Amino acid sequence: MIWDSITEVAKLLEQPQKIIALLIHINPDGDALGSALGLSKLFSNKGHHCLVISPNDFPDFLRWMPGASEICLMSESFTRAEEFMKNAELIFVVDCNELKRIIRLQEVYNASGAYKIMIDHHPDPDLAVDCMLSDTSVSSTAELIFRFILEAGMEEYVDQDVATSLLTGIMTDTGCFSHNSSTRRTYEIVASLLDYGIDKDAIYNRIYNNYSVERMHLLGFSLHEKMEVLSGYHTAIISLTRDELKSFNYQVGDTEGFVNYPLSIKGVRFSVLFVENGDRIKISFRSKGSFPTNEIARKYFNGGGHINASGGESYVSMQETISLFKSIIPSYKEELADYEA
Ligand code: 5GP
Ligand code: MN
Repeated sequence: MIWDSITEVAKLLEQPQKIIALLIHINPDGDALGSALGLSKLFSNKGHHCLVISPNDFPDFLRWMPGASEICLMSESFTRAEEFMKNAELIFVVDCNELKRIIRLQEVYNASGAYKIMIDHHPDPDLAVDCMLSDTSVSSTAELIFRFILEAGMEEYVDQDVATSLLTGIMTDTGCFSHNSSTRRTYEIVASLLDYGIDKDAIYNRIYNNYSVERMHLLGFSLHEKMEVLSGYHTAIISLTRDELKSFNYQVGDTEGFVNYPLSIKGVRFSVLFVENGDRIKISFRSKGSFPTNEIARKYFNGGGHINASGGESYVSMQETISLFKSIIPSYKEELADYEA
């Protein structure tokens, strides 16, 4: 873990009314949003001026999160994002380990003289910052944020909104405590968050029991019509084209979680979801056990992430992307066979 200069950050935050930009990665998930919204509310409670900036829109099922309606989307208000960044005195990059994932703000980021802090749990952090809080062993960035709050002596500014956002981050990044959540520390932090009187069950229902009928039908279609089990490789893939999504009235976030379903099949250890998105194919990788999905994401699909959950992109057609994947997978046959799950 790289955990330095925290006292320096704490001192800066002691000063009144700082202008603070909080950046998250493209296609933000519950952890990115929870971490940024949690920090933003905490800093606002202390009297700082904050803006959460996201490269693009986030899934509908996270729209209820406290402060979500105030997020500045670069895709819609780039000038506002740029202006705020130019005036920012501190920039927090959370749940994001590389500049290319904050896309259009890269130049402004590099030119900014603000004090830069990264808080993240992805491997191989690669970002120029003044303070890096990086720990790949934690469940989520939200967990790390709570530790940061304690270390920086800012616990008195935590309120129900902050606690709700951080619990959402931990819950979503662990698949509701099904993976990446086997340390005492995670549960101690969850216990501390519950002390703020938040409603854990209501948060769960808002995240997981809040889908449209069309999304449910798209899931059924994906599993029944589009899933291919490559049993020789303990692998399952699902692909969804633009037209298929359209026929189910696709909304941003509707395919979130689809990639996890094939892992519930006995013997399947590696699951991959290919989704046509604009001019590219967005790919999600998940595994059970020690199979390193991030190696495949990094080596072949311009991506990265964690061992069990990673993502990438492809710039050729769906067919070509799947063919490429199928040509790669035989070289992992032994690794995929070795692991007992
Ligand atoms: P998802 O499949 O949910 O989009 O992403 C799974 C995990 O991989 C998340 O932790 C996400 O941040 C990470 N991830 C997804 N796409 C990329 C990528 O292109 N680059 C890197 N470094 N990480 C990614
Ligand atoms: Mn995360």
